[in-house]
Amino acid sequence: MEDKVCKHCGQVVMAGYDCECQGAQMEIRTEKQKVKAHEAIDILFGEHCKSDGYEPVSENELVTLKKLADNVAERNLISCTALLGGGIKAKIVRGSEGSVKIERSESKKTQTEIGYWSN
Ligand SMILES: [Zn+2]
Repeated sequence: MEDKVCKHCGQVVMAGYDCECQGAQMEIRTEKQKVKAHEAIDILFGEHCKSDGYEPVSENELVTLKKLADNVAERNLISCTALLGGGIKAKIVRGSEGSVKIERSESKKTQTEIGYWSN
């Protein structure tokens, strides 16, 4: 392994170590946060959620939610709400001190319509 130059501050960093500068530390924390956010999304919206009595969302929707969570973690978005199939709503919010909150909610409604002219 060779020493590398930190892309945030330009300092030479010893091989196998992370730079101590704020930019580098923030990047490391953000990457960890993204991994955990993806796990949380899998638990709340993926196959796992069946055991809590919820319907899992589609694979594409999971990928989209993870991208949104990445953007919140990277501070591109403060908050976003995604409407998924089946009336499922996902809210991803950046909380105080840079936390990422993920919330699932859904409105269940049943409705029947009987036409006036139906026989
Ligand atoms: Zn640095």
